[in-house]
Amino acid sequence: MKQRISEKHGSDHFNDQCGVVGVFGHKEAANLTYLGLYALQHRGQESSGIVSNHGGQFYQQKGMGLVADIFTKDRLKHLPGDAAIGHNRYSTTGASELNNAQPVSVNFAFGNLALAHNGNLLNSEVVRSELEAYGAIFQSGIDSEVIIHLIAHSRGSTMLDRIVDALQQVQGAFSLVVLTEDGMFVARDSYGIRPLSMARLKHGWIAASETCAFDLIGAEFVRDVEPGELVWIRRDGVQSYHPFPKTNQARCVFEYVYFSRPDSIADGHSVYSIRKRLGRQLAKESAVEADVVIAVPDSGVPAALGYAEACGLPFENGLIRNHYVGRTFIEPEQAIRHFGVKVKLNAIHDILDGKRVVIVDDSLVRGTTSRKIVKMVRQAGAKEIHMRISSPPTLSPCFYGIDTPTKQELIASTHTEKEVRRYITADSLAYLSLDGMLSAAPGEKSGYCAACFSEQYPIVLTGPDQQQLPLFEPFESRSKHAVSPAVSSGARSATKAPTRKRTE
Ligand code: SF4
Repeated sequence: MKQRISEKHGSDHFNDQCGVVGVFGHKEAANLTYLGLYALQHRGQESSGIVSNHGGQFYQQKGMGLVADIFTKDRLKHLPGDAAIGHNRYSTTGASELNNAQPVSVNFAFGNLALAHNGNLLNSEVVRSELEAYGAIFQSGIDSEVIIHLIAHSRGSTMLDRIVDALQQVQGAFSLVVLTEDGMFVARDSYGIRPLSMARLKHGWIAASETCAFDLIGAEFVRDVEPGELVWIRRDGVQSYHPFPKTNQARCVFEYVYFSRPDSIADGHSVYSIRKRLGRQLAKESAVEADVVIAVPDSGVPAALGYAEACGLPFENGLIRNHYVGRTFIEPEQAIRHFGVKVKLNAIHDILDGKRVVIVDDSLVRGTTSRKIVKMVRQAGAKEIHMRISSPPTLSPCFYGIDTPTKQELIASTHTEKEVRRYITADSLAYLSLDGMLSAAPGEKSGYCAACFSEQYPIVLTGPDQQQLPLFEPFESRSKHAVSPAVSSGARSATKAPTRKRTE
């Protein structure tokens, strides 16, 4: 029987989370949202959705799969109006099914509302059970839906108050866009974990997870949404608020290492240039006698270029990626060894034969792909193979919106560097140091989350079972930072401690 192989289970990378787009004040809002989602396809390939607003009436189209396959011309025609939000999903909580596709939209006493969220809410299970105890009926299994319910349950007298009230009750990572009947809200959590930027259209505004979405549609980048900022865009202007408690920033350093597209500008810096810098730093720390530097394409290329440049070695495209492989594919009946990696990558014999080769990759997660790549390069004739990783060993899962294997599945957390080298069958292996990575990233080292490398989680609390648990702020202590005072949603209280769960 033919076997279906999925990339998701057993994936040898940390996987991108989600991408969000919001367009306001443009007559082609849904089309522009579609193009933005297309540019952000790398941030989620399981499902995609757009909700548009035409005179207060909301329209919705969602589907499973890739943006270009879901949004046919006909479906886009059914998304009228001059405001729209969209979402690409890679599941972190909730199964991969249409029911869990975003944006989440509702019609409640305050009118129509839709929300698209990138991140992961650590206290969503506690909040959900409390809301359910108060009669809330959830339509999906995703954490983002709790924000919608919190908005609906809030006693705030304006939509602004209700959104602030809701976001003050959730803990964790959120970069989101919220569409209302007369405006659009754009918000980023106080840690700034996931990115979010804004740009100007000739008529209107666009917000998106990454700036590469602006380039495709010719929008003019204005600035990143600041950590802890809520921007309210309406027909009569744009207002910025900082209603959330101040914290140390903890932007995800892995966005620079792997998640973001290299042509994006994240927090004012070119992702491509930072990746090259990581490669140069890696060369400083672990140069080796070799003849050629190659990359594991595509994400390893900028770091490999930086490494080669710093070492004065030639860079070659020794591995070629087949860009036309879908997320799933059918393996032939007769088993082919290492089919999964071979269908995506192939080695160029002429470049590798008889050479001492440095292979640069952005990260090493389970080690299974590295092992196959080393074998492939050796079969192509390489005399020596030196694996260089432009990030430190991945030791722990992410709880902030990234799909990661369990700690036990992360090879560096259970094996020494020597054992990993032996497993991947390389002649040498070296990672970039934690300090080296953070010094190559722009700004203060303390402004980043690097928890999957350092195990120092920026949002944690010791819970009753003495494990490190996500911070949970009881309901009673929230709402002191509201935009206006009357936004409390009543005297609910936490009834159970949150359990730490890995993103699926
Ligand atoms: S744990 Fe790792 S992947 Fe997750 S936010 Fe922190 S640096 Fe990024």
